[in-house]
Amino acid sequence: MDTKILVLEDYISTGKLSETDMEKLEEAAAVIKNGGLAAFPTETVYGLGGNALMKDAAKKIYAAKGRPSDNPLIVHISDLKDLKGIVRDIPEAAVLLSERFWPGPMTMIFNKSEEIPYETTGGLDTVAVRFPSDPVASLLISYAKVPIAAPSANLSGRPSTTSAEHCIEDLSGRVDMIVDGGSCRIGLESTIIDVTGRDPVLLRPGAVTKEMLESVLDREVIEDAAIKGPLKGGIRPKAPGMKYRHYAPKAPMVLVAPESAGHTAYVADKIMEILRERQPEFEKIAILCSEECLKELEEKADGETDRADIRLTGSRSDTAGIARGLFKHLREFDEDKADFIIAEGYPEDELGLAVMNRLKKAAAWQLIYV
Ligand code: AMP
Ligand code: MG
Repeated sequence: MDTKILVLEDYISTGKLSETDMEKLEEAAAVIKNGGLAAFPTETVYGLGGNALMKDAAKKIYAAKGRPSDNPLIVHISDLKDLKGIVRDIPEAAVLLSERFWPGPMTMIFNKSEEIPYETTGGLDTVAVRFPSDPVASLLISYAKVPIAAPSANLSGRPSTTSAEHCIEDLSGRVDMIVDGGSCRIGLESTIIDVTGRDPVLLRPGAVTKEMLESVLDREVIEDAAIKGPLKGGIRPKAPGMKYRHYAPKAPMVLVAPESAGHTAYVADKIMEILRERQPEFEKIAILCSEECLKELEEKADGETDRADIRLTGSRSDTAGIARGLFKHLREFDEDKADFIIAEGYPEDELGLAVMNRLKKAAAWQLIYV
């Protein structure tokens, strides 16, 4: 299949959609409406979009991603009015959360209406819905005049894509179209919250943090067990996608995390210890860490012997910056042909919970607390 790449040149250079850009979005919208697939940017990550009301579109999405078909898709809307047709009921918690966080990087789970085929929901009676704020995504959805089912636009098992370049790398030849709208502002997938039960449950942490959800709902939000640790055999996570090895570079990775913010100073010591231990075994060790950690490592290093490729996440104090660049770094380790990766972990509050969730999964839960 030939994949047509539509570059939103004016939007990328000025931040504003021009007439020409909008014509391109109309073209992509027509592809989706008529049952084809188009990948497009959102504020979280790139999405691989198909018509959420068409069974065959969902099947095509699973095939293009190489994704197991029990892993449900998120349905994207561009107007709150579109919610009614695709869900059976709108709980009070969903009203509160949508008022505060939509449009934005939050997905809610609802009981699905008959409009939504089981192919889209991976056989579930519930449907995940998001109303993105990104201007490209929202205009595309409104042009399509149908809700758009869009999982992250990556091959299954690889890190989500946060630029068109990565999207092309994974999906060229597998989809009809890729819309290049530059880099994603947030860089991590949306927060997912299940509002179908008596208690709201956080299924996947994202830029709308647990603390933010709790402050709007004025009550505690339960965290699904799959967020912080590997699930014990036989237990299924509530978000089926959370069970898959994900976001993973090819090389084995170990994560060194502080037990609390006060333990941050011990992280570099441990990273250095692991580096020295593993050097005889591996040729190309890579370290993913903050600027502050690098400084501490440099103070400890013996220049002659302690060699590693360093990739910087940014400053420890800028969790949003760390989030934005994370998937790009995870992909770069494959390009660099790193054979072992040591990554710095961060405290798990606010956006740190989402960053650590993705890092832990990339490390296949190989985690050392200091
Ligand atoms: P992605 O679109 O690649 O960001 O992945 C979508 C995520 O949403 C996966 O982890 C899915 O398991 C989860 N998800 C989608 N629909 C549902 C649903 N109805 N119930 C629970 N989780 C869902
Ligand atoms: Mg995904």
